[in-house]
Amino acid sequence: MSRTLDQLMADSAPSVGEMLRRRVAQSQTKEALKYRGPDDAWLSLTWLEVEEYAHEIAAGLISLGVEHEDRVAIASSTRMEWIMADLGVMCAAAATTTVYPTTKGEDVAYILSDAGVKLVIAEDAEQSDKVLAQAEHHNVQAIVQIDGTHDHDMVHSWEELRELGRAYLKDNPGVVDEAINSTNHDSLSTLIYTSGTTGRPKGVRLNHSVWAYEGEGVKELGIITEEDVHFMWLPLSHVFGKCLITIWLSSGMLTAVDGDLTRIVQGLGEIRPTVMAGAPRIFEKVRNAVMIGNSSGVKSLIARRAFSTGMKTIPYRVAGKKVPPLLAARYALYDKLVFSKLKARMGGRVKFFVSGSAKLNAQVQRWFWAAGINLIEGYGLTETGAITFLNDYRKPALGTVGPVLPGTETKIAEDGEILVRGPGVTAGYENLPEATAESFTEDGWFHTGDIGELDDLGNLRITDRKKDLIKTSGGKFVAPQKVEGAILANCPYISQAVVTGEGRKYISALVVLDPDAIAGWGDGKGYQGMPYSELTQLEHTRRMLNHYIERANQRLERWETIKKFTILDQELTVDDDEVTPSLKIRRGAVEEKYSDLIEQMYEGAEADGPGN
Ligand code: AMP
Repeated sequence: MSRTLDQLMADSAPSVGEMLRRRVAQSQTKEALKYRGPDDAWLSLTWLEVEEYAHEIAAGLISLGVEHEDRVAIASSTRMEWIMADLGVMCAAAATTTVYPTTKGEDVAYILSDAGVKLVIAEDAEQSDKVLAQAEHHNVQAIVQIDGTHDHDMVHSWEELRELGRAYLKDNPGVVDEAINSTNHDSLSTLIYTSGTTGRPKGVRLNHSVWAYEGEGVKELGIITEEDVHFMWLPLSHVFGKCLITIWLSSGMLTAVDGDLTRIVQGLGEIRPTVMAGAPRIFEKVRNAVMIGNSSGVKSLIARRAFSTGMKTIPYRVAGKKVPPLLAARYALYDKLVFSKLKARMGGRVKFFVSGSAKLNAQVQRWFWAAGINLIEGYGLTETGAITFLNDYRKPALGTVGPVLPGTETKIAEDGEILVRGPGVTAGYENLPEATAESFTEDGWFHTGDIGELDDLGNLRITDRKKDLIKTSGGKFVAPQKVEGAILANCPYISQAVVTGEGRKYISALVVLDPDAIAGWGDGKGYQGMPYSELTQLEHTRRMLNHYIERANQRLERWETIKKFTILDQELTVDDDEVTPSLKIRRGAVEEKYSDLIEQMYEGAEADGPGN
């Protein structure tokens, strides 16, 4: 690292509002942001226009009574207005609280109440209605609706907010600058709610220092410049998406935003990005789409040979060595026949893609490298401002998440847990002093809850998770106890359930039936005296259970729902070491014993199964 942490923080802007100011001073009329207009055609804003827009929003919010560190929630999908709302909130010295548009009403109400949200920026009438329907559970005083209008008198339109802002700025021209100047590294900038292992989500407090640092830390790596073109579609309610806003500001790269996932491939072709970040699932999808598209005849043979040749070149290329001439010639041929077309579909000028927020499958990563597309992996948590480890695409350590970001310290605890310390780390959880204290060691190291190993060069390999959470390949956390609880609560015949889905596309469950209950059911259906092992495997039994699993699914978030389940023909027992003496299921042991059954629930899933 060429700058010390002190230098890095001294160079960093004291707040995100100031980061924007510095970027505008440097880049002025350079194109900053592209977004889709009403007819889906791309429109764009310069840096000066971004600032003007953000300041209008900030002044509008101030005129509606938003004050220092007041919480303003954004409940919207990824779009230009999300970014403007976020910048506006931070320039008003307030703090953004992120809410997924898909979050259910009850959970939205919890977040709004826990964070003490005063004003909500809602994407459309559906989001406004969700907030209004839960009015007795929170203290929101106003809603600004991005799309359309609403007849409730608490709801202002987006244009009204901008209008209010313009008028307020006319009378108080210095109001936004003053608000920006009132924020510093220690001011609260963002609250992101993240799932706990049980119960309610926890609000992670991220101060302006986190974003100022993330911006500088990534800049220090020298992998992104003002000339880069960035395609942004990740949910901005999640920390990985959210931190891209900071990297946009610190680097000055042109960013094109479109949160509509169905248009990613189209967007890649139109924007021709040089960089893009995504959860592993999106890269799996790209690979599957190409592989399936190539599954017949000569094309498939050529593609297979191309990839097998490409794989052989990887060790040379990642080590920065020359590929031996014969192999290089073959690779050049396949590049022309296969890879160049593939790269063209991604716009043809990708410098690198970054995968993060869940484990990237090693096969998928190598497939991209074989094709000459540099797919690198990073790692971090909501609590650590998203990017805590990141590979350099020019010298990647494939299969690892790379070295720690300059300025952050890391070490592996005795039990293998990854600990980090530095300016990217949260100031703690909202209203949860005990959970905050438990997350840090006495000397300030943050417990990531992940298990990993550092190699001699400082590259981190994530090997396991200490906390009892599943992360799907879509990057969504699922608390297995919650899903198992929903199964048990909704199905009177199920006595044990084990949910799986780590690094997979969806959640599946192994379920065990209560012997007495199922025997009683069997008696009534004409299966008197049938042994348990047979009764559990009947198609009739399965159909009956399906009804209950669907009922459980209705109580879960979309990404938590059980897409497949298998009924075991025996109970999980203490004697077989599948259950602890205190009757807690030993997840690892069960998954190992029934790995074949689990595999079967994912067979063919990559190609056409349900996804999230
Ligand atoms: P979140 O707070 O939603 O960003 O989730 C953070 C968690 O995601 C980490 O504690 C890890 O368990 C997991 N995670 C993030 N990036 C990776 C990665 N590259 N490989 C494996 N797990 C990851």
